[in-house]
Amino acid sequence: MGMNMAIFSRRSAYVKNPILELDSAAEQLMKKGREVIKLNRGDPPVYFRTPKYMIDAYVEALRENQTNYSRAAGTRELINAVIGRYARLYKARLREEDIIATAGVTEALAFLNHMLMEKGDRAILFRPHYPQYIPRLMSEGGVPIYCDQEMGNGWEMDLEGVERKLKATRSAGKAGRLKYMIITNPGNPTGRVLQRNTLKAIADLANEYGFLLISDEIYDEIVYNGAKFTSMMQVARGVPHVVLNGSSKNLDSTGFRIGFAIVPENDAKSEAIKKKLLDYALTRLSLNTPAQHAVAVGLSNAAEHKKAISSMVGGIRKRVGAVTRALSENPLIEVVEPNSTFYVFPRINLGGLDFKNGDEFVKAALFEAGVQLTRGSAFGTPSNFRIVALPNEQTLETAVGRINEMCRKHGKRG
Ligand code: PLP
Repeated sequence: MGMNMAIFSRRSAYVKNPILELDSAAEQLMKKGREVIKLNRGDPPVYFRTPKYMIDAYVEALRENQTNYSRAAGTRELINAVIGRYARLYKARLREEDIIATAGVTEALAFLNHMLMEKGDRAILFRPHYPQYIPRLMSEGGVPIYCDQEMGNGWEMDLEGVERKLKATRSAGKAGRLKYMIITNPGNPTGRVLQRNTLKAIADLANEYGFLLISDEIYDEIVYNGAKFTSMMQVARGVPHVVLNGSSKNLDSTGFRIGFAIVPENDAKSEAIKKKLLDYALTRLSLNTPAQHAVAVGLSNAAEHKKAISSMVGGIRKRVGAVTRALSENPLIEVVEPNSTFYVFPRINLGGLDFKNGDEFVKAALFEAGVQLTRGSAFGTPSNFRIVALPNEQTLETAVGRINEMCRKHGKRG
């Protein structure tokens, strides 16, 4: 892999994306005429078209020459649309100053880590975690403290484990160096929705230990099978927190690159974070101006949005169900049926297979079975792998069929 070039900073070593790391190998295979089913990237518009009313809005913005720099923190039209969304969904009363629009949640993560982390500062992450939290944190010198979510327990958070780690951090005199905790709700890759009382317990811990709570809620409308989503802003009253969201998943428009960081509270710490986020936004001048109009319309036209999201979520629920069913026929794989997102995150019974570890399993899935997955080690749980359940059911069933066949071939006998 990378050469140890003297021109690069040490922090640049953390900048990697494991979800895309097998792309060039997959391309090589396809060039040789092999068919590869790509289940690595969570990119909904590849499979469900971005709603036409949003495309029309984007084109309309271009025709009206909306090609200038926008207000750096996001156009007023977009910010008002975000305020409207949160009033509708969570009865929140946000103000313009509480919201900074960003180039996806990704840019908000970069801003937050850059503004918060000194070398050696700590952040709490829950395994399995979204992989991109790591390069943003560690390239700023931050050190992850890992807490767990238990697959056997429907991916619930191990809250006692969190308290133990917090107490240990405090008694080591490092409590002041614990800057934030990030949670992903609904969870990527777990596909679970956190219970309201879990969120409340977490908000209480943030309050007691004084760290900033960051809640990445980018899948908050991709919820099904009777699950009920609660936003952190509904339970963390009086506790400084940041809610991250955007157009990528709920509005089926990953390539628009529009996200938002919301700081709902008005205590001194929250106010300081809003101002600092604005400074960061000002330094990069603007966001994509026509995309902001398209997202504003996407959020404001509640009737069109409802049609689009219910059709997409209906399709996702069926696909996730198809993957879960097909995998449950495999005695060497354990799977929990998700109730949100479009990810399935099964566990491999490595004891029953002749693979050294989960990474080898995922490589074999590509090279032997022609299915591109993401290795569980990228999420901090090396015995699992992630499937993106977005292609049509037939493609997904073919893919899982091939994985199951590979397991039969690699099963240990006796
Ligand atoms: N956060 C989570 C949990 C994600 O799964 C993703 C994308 O897959 C992102 C953030 C990135 O979002 P954006 O496209 O808004 O940068």
